[in-house]
Amino acid sequence: MAYDCWLQCVRDCSGRFPVTDVIYRCPACGGLLEVQHDMAALSERSGEQWRALFDGRTRTNDWPYGSGVWGKKEWVLPLVDDEHIVSMYEGHTNLFWARRLGAEVGVEDLWVKLCGNSHTGSFKDLGMTVLVSVVNQMIASGSPVRALACASTGDTSAALAAYGAAAGIPTIVFLPKNKVSDAQLIQPIANGALVLALDTDFDGCMALVREVTKDKSLYLANSMNSLRIEGQKTVGIEIVQQFDWQVPDWIVIPVGNLGNISALGKGFLMMRELGLIDRLPKLVAAQAEQANPFYRSFQRGFEKLEPMHAGETIATAIQIGNPVSYEKAVQVMSRFEGCVEQASEDEIADASARADLTGMYACPHTGVALAALFKLINRGVVRPQDRVVVISTAHGLKFSTFKTAYHRDALSGIKASRQNPPVELAADAQAVRHTIQRFLDGQSQ
Ligand SMILES: *Cc1c(COP(=O)(O)O)cnc(C)c1O
Ligand SMILES: [Zn+2]
Repeated sequence: MAYDCWLQCVRDCSGRFPVTDVIYRCPACGGLLEVQHDMAALSERSGEQWRALFDGRTRTNDWPYGSGVWGKKEWVLPLVDDEHIVSMYEGHTNLFWARRLGAEVGVEDLWVKLCGNSHTGSFKDLGMTVLVSVVNQMIASGSPVRALACASTGDTSAALAAYGAAAGIPTIVFLPKNKVSDAQLIQPIANGALVLALDTDFDGCMALVREVTKDKSLYLANSMNSLRIEGQKTVGIEIVQQFDWQVPDWIVIPVGNLGNISALGKGFLMMRELGLIDRLPKLVAAQAEQANPFYRSFQRGFEKLEPMHAGETIATAIQIGNPVSYEKAVQVMSRFEGCVEQASEDEIADASARADLTGMYACPHTGVALAALFKLINRGVVRPQDRVVVISTAHGLKFSTFKTAYHRDALSGIKASRQNPPVELAADAQAVRHTIQRFLDGQSQ
């Protein structure tokens, strides 16, 4: 059975648009659009039947349903033909018990969802497979789209370039010059994208790409494009599925443009409406103090968004002062318990290093989420018996420059109190024995 879906204004204007229209905002009011599903048709299956269907497809090689995103195709984008799907088996990322870190910080049931263990090393793959598949279908049916374009803080452009290259669709990425990591810069270069390194910040790149994509043959791939949200919403479904359909008490996620939290919330609300779960987790949106417009707005009861100039932060993927998906995110936060928390540069670096010492390799954004969690634990908001999931949004290997600088104690304004630099020694057994002894003495203290 093919379920219906369409684009509709988040502010409840009445128009409906096909998901294959090149349209990013409501023509009546300028609000963001979102994909709506035919919930009446979807609810003809029981929650139990949906759970069984999703479980049955998990990690199979039944293309494309083995993908963590397309295994939930009926809820994601049922109108794409399987033959047009561009998938690299995204999803199914590890959800692991962070036992030692949890014990250290006083929450035994602490879990980390490693969304960075993915094709291009970040959760952005979850949404990009959906967007590129739809455009692939549009082109196959004669649409004049010539290329895909996005502004990025590094991970969106990596995902877009990879999925575009897999589909054979040209990609153009707008990056703030010197504000993404070397690993993130080389990804779209390697995948053959046109890489524009622009003399501005992310918000400046976003304004430019919106201007340029007024030409409808250049398709805008930023998360204001609601197709990406549909893929990203599977992360919450996958977490619950990995807990045998049990809902955790808390989910902590680092946010910038606010697409990810909108998507996370949407997935949970859909699961509840369709009877797969009967309660919701509390959500924590975590921001860097240097780029905290959502935190500031939360402090004033989400009265309004005051766009700001985002300051320099080691959490470069969320260095965003004017988040596009603000309205969607506020709608989500109003339907969930939880809060917005922030972390200073010192706290971010320290939380990342602390997690690494328990076996992780945390990217700085994961550090933002962890630092926010540590604060909530210290304030007694998150309690010792709570089950907590921290969403790790990117792979730490994309941010090795940051880690290298940390362990050299070369990050300006940050004190590397867990610094562990290499020991340079003469090739002499006695000196080596000495050094090992000192190391082991230090460990047992
Ligand atoms: C994109 C990104 C985020 C933030 O997601 P938004 O949808 O912009 O809020 C967080 N962490 C990493 C590593 C990212 O790439
Ligand atoms: Zn509208």
